[in-house]
Amino acid sequence: MFNPTRMFYASPDLQGSSSHSTGLSDDATATRLLITDDDDRLRASTLALLEGQGYHCEQATNGQQALDRLLRGGIDVLLLDLMMPGMDGYQLLEIIQRRGLDCDVIVVSGEATFDNATRVFRGGAIDFINKPYEPQTLFHRVEHIVRQRRLREELNQARRELEASEQRYRFIVSHSPDIIYMIDGNGCFTFINERVHDLLGYRPEDLIGRHYRELVHEEDLPLAEQVFDTQVPRNGEDQRVELRFKCRDRKDYARSFESKSITIELSATALQGPVTENAPLLGTYGVARDISDRKKAQEMIQFQAYHDLLTHLPNRELFMDRLQLAINQADRGGHQLAVLFLDMDGFKFINDSLGHMTGDKLLQQVAKRLRETLRDSDTVSRIGGDEFNILLPDLQKPEEAGLIAQKLLDAFSQPIRLENHEITIGFSVGISLYPGDAACAEDLIKNADMAMYHIKGRGKNGYEFFSDNMQQIYQFRHNLEQDIRKALEQEQFEAWYQPQFNIDSGEIVGLEALIRWNHPERGLITPDLFIPIAEEIGLINEIGRFMLETGCAQLREWIDQGTRPIKLSVNVSPFQLIESNFDLILCELTDRYELPQDRLVVEITETALMQDMEQVLPRLKKLIHCGIGIAIDDFGVGYSSLAYLQSLPARSLKIDRSFLARSREEMDKTTIVKAIVAMAREMGLDVVMEGIETTQQLEYLRDIGGIIGQGYLLGYPQQARHILPLLKTS
Ligand code: C2E
Ligand code: MG
Ligand code: MG
Repeated sequence: MFNPTRMFYASPDLQGSSSHSTGLSDDATATRLLITDDDDRLRASTLALLEGQGYHCEQATNGQQALDRLLRGGIDVLLLDLMMPGMDGYQLLEIIQRRGLDCDVIVVSGEATFDNATRVFRGGAIDFINKPYEPQTLFHRVEHIVRQRRLREELNQARRELEASEQRYRFIVSHSPDIIYMIDGNGCFTFINERVHDLLGYRPEDLIGRHYRELVHEEDLPLAEQVFDTQVPRNGEDQRVELRFKCRDRKDYARSFESKSITIELSATALQGPVTENAPLLGTYGVARDISDRKKAQEMIQFQAYHDLLTHLPNRELFMDRLQLAINQADRGGHQLAVLFLDMDGFKFINDSLGHMTGDKLLQQVAKRLRETLRDSDTVSRIGGDEFNILLPDLQKPEEAGLIAQKLLDAFSQPIRLENHEITIGFSVGISLYPGDAACAEDLIKNADMAMYHIKGRGKNGYEFFSDNMQQIYQFRHNLEQDIRKALEQEQFEAWYQPQFNIDSGEIVGLEALIRWNHPERGLITPDLFIPIAEEIGLINEIGRFMLETGCAQLREWIDQGTRPIKLSVNVSPFQLIESNFDLILCELTDRYELPQDRLVVEITETALMQDMEQVLPRLKKLIHCGIGIAIDDFGVGYSSLAYLQSLPARSLKIDRSFLARSREEMDKTTIVKAIVAMAREMGLDVVMEGIETTQQLEYLRDIGGIIGQGYLLGYPQQARHILPLLKTS
């Protein structure tokens, strides 16, 4: 029965006839077989047969050799004889199993008992070929095993790819900058990624099974229902909405949430189920993106368009809007409204002397105080620089506007504290009323502006209602601005001089230079009318320099003419003092005109000194060093603090003329002049009394003694040529 020749030896015929195996040829060439048999002939014939089928075959003569080869890897199928000397087939099977070597084992054995078969299958073999065998049987069985193995490998490969792809998706989902969610037909979360924790403070597991309503801001619920509950999302397209999601309370998490809700842009797609009319909604899934920053930016842009960025007050545009609205309401309701135009007094000086940063901070504080003083229904707007407009939308009586203006002025009687400065500011307030003063918003503002100019020209820090005749004053002031610029070019300014006398001896001791403007049409204009404007429009320094230069040149001329050794006082604006090279300009002048020591005096006001002492004081000391005197002008109208005078290098004090009463009796009643004089002496200062107009005043001062006097009674301001005779020595 057993005919090895027929059964085991390959014939060309057989190789050629294995047509069914052609389908395996790819698998065959890629498959490596190890034939293990101690019988050389059998092994050789098996090898020849299988190589004939295209397999790569290797051989081993016993279990140990086979194991060595298997350990090197790359063997797909092992054909294993059981009975071999040394390590037999059973032992090898056991080692293969124990070590988990990846190869399929076909046992090829003559001992085909049931026990043997059971034993080898338990040992991990997957087939059993009984010796002797028909070549076709061998081919079929090997081919089958190889095919199974390939299929298994392909499956494993597919599984690995699937796992990798799933891992990739899981990574993408959990690292997504957006929330990715899935909601079931009842509106409860079935999935939500980690991102929800960063954005809302909830852990995904806290939300699974919870209803979306718990997360959506109450006001946005109707919108959310449309997306999650209704038929809308079923058309297969995704829905996009903006919703606010509530964040978890910050107490619950160490992470702090800036606001209680964030704005989310959400897309929702319906889960597709059976397409029937009344089919229940299976749920939705989609992506939710945090757009709070974008929202904030949009709100910011909106805010910037209608507000002043420094003070956060409404800007002109918003003010006009509200004014127009208030006009319409006033028309319907038959009531009145008021527009207040506020301009801060002396802001330019504060800005120039303390710097823009301080100026800005001051404006912020001012805005705050204005806001706090008014009702919420009133609009305060900053319309530029130091100008504010206020809308009082509903007045019972026009006088109310005056009361509110006064309330505002009173609110600023307390200084504003800024880091190292305390700044007292005032306002000039113009008021116009609707419908009395103008018919439209623009004219209301224009008229309030005009009224403001009016109060500015009349001493500032007060309010004024608009009246029809203000047009002229406004025009006049406007023209004046233009004319001052021309006046400098065309040399229309002149220095006049007013004498100062020692009251006890009657001797002339000094002159005060006072500017006059020879206006080609208006004639002589006094400084009160144009100096404040020149300060505002930034021409005061040029004008000031002209006066200093003219005064020094004139003094030189008088000295050359051999006149009495008088002092010449020149008024200096606070703006000149804060000019960085002010001291150098003055010292250069005294040098150039070779003026003797102590002949030139600069008059400065208290206000000028209060603003920025740190900056100004060293310069004043430099002036003293150059032999230039310093007089405090208009003493008593400003801060009147003798204490701070101590820190100043002043030489004399000019008491403001408002301290002089007209009659002797009145003057005797008040002791203030005496008190100031006594204190000034104590501090070693000369005292000059300004504005002496009557002999009674003169006598009163003579009684006090030691005072220098100036005033119309003693001599008017005059041109230099009229002064010369006064200065002649004999
Ligand atoms: P001021 O420095 O206090 O000058 C004294 C003012 O009082 C002068 O007015 C003078 O004409 C006036 N006056 C003199 N005696 C009497 C009197 O008996 N009765 C009355 N009622 N007034 C008298 P003026 O010349 O109109 O100057 C006004 C102010 O303008 C000055 O006050 C000074 O602050 C400023 N000023 C004048 N010239 C200049 C200047 O060149 N530069 C600067 N920055 N300011 C100047
Ligand atoms: Mg003066
Ligand atoms: Mg004065």
